Amino acid sequence: MPSLKKKQLAKILSNLECFDNPKVELEQYTTPGDVAAELLWIAHINGDIAGKIIADLGTGTGVLAIGASLLGADIVYGIDRDDEALEIAQRNIKNLNLENITLIHGDVSFFSHKVDTVIMNPPFGCQNRNADRPFLEKACESEGVIYSINPNLEEVRRFVEMFLKEKGFGSYLLKTMSFEIPHQFYFHKKKLERIEVCIYRFEKLDRY
Ligand code: SAH
Repeated sequence: MPSLKKKQLAKILSNLECFDNPKVELEQYTTPGDVAAELLWIAHINGDIAGKIIADLGTGTGVLAIGASLLGADIVYGIDRDDEALEIAQRNIKNLNLENITLIHGDVSFFSHKVDTVIMNPPFGCQNRNADRPFLEKACESEGVIYSINPNLEEVRRFVEMFLKEKGFGSYLLKTMSFEIPHQFYFHKKKLERIEVCIYRFEKLDRY
């Protein structure tokens, strides 16, 4: 779909099947279509999607992986620990007739391919402290440029930027956005919660 526009991408991604039984311990929140499309669009404009090998760490129902495929990625790996989420991702992929996405069931720590670009909305580490660490570690190891969605909280930003700096990556805060979360867990008080997130690009400083 080479002439896809950002708005169309957001609409397609918003209409995908979401988690039907979200698991609190895995911090399963579907990235809203507008946030996913924003991240993917910026990556696309930077030349980090079309023709590239992509890893979507913690793919869940496949939103980011599917968006990357629609924007012309060559190969997309979607990795997740939860087989129920991957079944939904598989249905979403099939409904759109996408053929270049490989789903891998397992912990992100075991992913071992080298890729050009990592895209991810990792667990925010709210329910399970440090749940984002294996994602950050793996993203750095995979040698690609990294696009990530993280909570816009000062202590999280400081931690993430420092973690990446120590691994030799520069951090570029691309955008902050509102991320809508429907009432899905017992501790959600409102029908619709909104949190502020950052979209980051991290790049190894000695890449060139
Ligand atoms: N990328 C999806 C889902 C984000 S929610 C989206 O943007 O909509 C985070 C996902 O990471 C969940 O699907 C959860 O099952 C998965 N996950 C959490 N910890 C994981 C780990 N250690 N290894 C693999 N997947 C993990």
